[in-house]
Amino acid sequence: MSTSLYIHIPWCLHKCSYCDFYSLPSASDAVPGSGYVDRLIEEINVSAINGTLHSIFLGGGTPSMIAPSDLGRLLNSISKKYDMPSEITLEANPETLNESVLRELRAVGFTRLSCGVQSFDAGQLQFLERVHSADKARDALRAASRAGFENRNLDLIYTLPSQTMADLENDLHDAIALEPTHISAYQLIVEPGTPLERKVESGDVTLPDEEIAIAMWHRVRKILGEAGYTAYEVSNFAQPGFECIHNVHYWECGDYLGIGTGAVSRIGQHRWRRARNTKSYMMGELHVDQEEYLTDQEMRTEVCMLGLRMTCGLDLERFESRFGKSFESFYPGRIAAWKEKGLATGDSHLQLTPSGMLLLDSLVSELV
Ligand code: SF4
Repeated sequence: MSTSLYIHIPWCLHKCSYCDFYSLPSASDAVPGSGYVDRLIEEINVSAINGTLHSIFLGGGTPSMIAPSDLGRLLNSISKKYDMPSEITLEANPETLNESVLRELRAVGFTRLSCGVQSFDAGQLQFLERVHSADKARDALRAASRAGFENRNLDLIYTLPSQTMADLENDLHDAIALEPTHISAYQLIVEPGTPLERKVESGDVTLPDEEIAIAMWHRVRKILGEAGYTAYEVSNFAQPGFECIHNVHYWECGDYLGIGTGAVSRIGQHRWRRARNTKSYMMGELHVDQEEYLTDQEMRTEVCMLGLRMTCGLDLERFESRFGKSFESFYPGRIAAWKEKGLATGDSHLQLTPSGMLLLDSLVSELV
């Protein structure tokens, strides 16, 4: 049994127009990084992870707004309590990085860097309200390589307003030219309550329709595949051996503990969220603002929904040992029906074909 550790850092220099993560806009010098890390260390010291630590992921927000020395203190405290895993990821944004910072981050123990680039098009970066330029993103990725980050992810967003297929191809080729070992390419989602939603609802912004979005998804897979990045999940691509251990653990429905304000944990069927209240967290209060116990059926649905996102598919043997009965017993005839329609394949693993992946939500809704 192993558990992954997620640590949330809740600050960003600026709130991007599409973002619904828990992040607070703040100037770098106003972030109470050292005090926040003290609270994180206290929370880690009272945590109780059974078994080994599978991976560590610092996400946000913009974790790279915290000084490397403070992040080093944090990793050092974790290492006193748990054996350190091989993959320790830091999410970062280009505007906070330079070669000397990256060398420090590598030296204090981070083994993987995940950099939010989103686009190389100046107009799209402005639309997304990113605070970095395309050149700054290029500099950051190149500096990460020189600083010894062999394992580097680059995040892209597509299906942007007025984005053409040629624009998308340019973004992909720009990303590939930087030789990251991993690329996450997500379609732009209009999240409720964001400025983006208001712009779409008012008609100020029009996003590509579904047909174009599907064509773009296929083009992303083709171009990245030809460049040596295998699609191992709906939106994630890696060179061989560089799949994200932390995210695969999520998709396999492994346990994870979330530390820090707003962080979500799920251990077995118990899921809870540390309160989204940084002020009280800074005072050492560990409140929970959401909590639920998943029913067996909810857990099965979650295992299917996440497992089927992966190209390797849902491990049917593991499913059976987890739930005591086979997938076929719970959902008789589903596998055969999906295979007949060309939506699924595989024997020991139930794998969705690209056409099946595009229907993932609707296929999982059949699992009742
Ligand atoms: S940098 Fe990331 S976490 Fe911060 S506001 Fe933008 S999308 Fe959200």
